[in-house]
Amino acid sequence: MRCPVCGTEGSLSPLGKLVSTTPHGGSPELRFKRRNAIHSEPTFTAKLARACGKCGVLLAFLDFQQRSTLTTAMDELIPYDRG
Ligand SMILES: [Zn+2]
Repeated sequence: MRCPVCGTEGSLSPLGKLVSTTPHGGSPELRFKRRNAIHSEPTFTAKLARACGKCGVLLAFLDFQQRSTLTTAMDELIPYDRG
């Protein structure tokens, strides 16, 4: 399988389970802001991922329901500020 970032063929790991090192043990979350700040910030939990052995990118995957929610909210999302 080719890495979508560095393009190296055969560099992606098999699917792995994302785990948290926090005391609560939750999975890593991906959160966005919306253009209309009144609504809540869409948050997605990724449970599976692949990693590239060449460039180190981590590719996390959402399940079907979360992909559907993301697609519906996509036009309202704005980048999260760094820092
Ligand atoms: Zn790569």
